[in-house]
Amino acid sequence: MNLLKRRILQEGIALNQNVLKVDSFLNHQVDPKLMYEMGKAFKDYFENCGITKVVTIESSGIAPAVMTAIQMNIPMIILKKQKSKILSGEVYQKTVYSFTKNVDYELTLSKKYICKDDKVLIIDDFLAYGEAALGAISVIEQAGANVLGIGIVIEKSFQPGRKILEDKGYNIYSLAKISKLGEGIIEFVEE
Ligand code: 5GP
Repeated sequence: MNLLKRRILQEGIALNQNVLKVDSFLNHQVDPKLMYEMGKAFKDYFENCGITKVVTIESSGIAPAVMTAIQMNIPMIILKKQKSKILSGEVYQKTVYSFTKNVDYELTLSKKYICKDDKVLIIDDFLAYGEAALGAISVIEQAGANVLGIGIVIEKSFQPGRKILEDKGYNIYSLAKISKLGEGIIEFVEE
């Protein structure tokens, strides 16, 4: 998605060889028009897959996910990152490790909002090691539902997330794929 790549080049800050900051349009301030275009791109790619729900992880996946859901005319679910205070029998949960932040968090999905017939599109802001996506897949599959696609805004293709998910058979579509980061360096995978 050229619009997104241009914004990354103009405003993205590579903190080091592993982490990209895009706080000016995605992770802190949000550009709604860009989110709308992202939603359209995800809808165009996944619209014939029979998706019934969009699932995302709080908080930076919410803006692109809601734009996707509104254009696919289906509900959107936010996976919570805190441990549930309600009875564990009422929720699906999975512990996820974040390499970027070096912490564990607990992904939580209420049993009320998912069922075994759901066909899910997961949307998230970044794909790095695939831990967040695997956690989301786990809680969705605990419900007996199927993950039919994973839509990612920014994939860091030099990290192993895509390969791990593809090896498990998941269909991933990324709007921008980064091949290299470094001080003052942001390079994209040639496509
Ligand atoms: P993974 O679980 O695939 O290792 O990492 C994905 C999650 O970590 C995303 O949901 C995102 O919040 C965060 N993340 C990973 N890499 C980056 C990055 O380079 N920049 C930002 N802003 N977040 C990242």
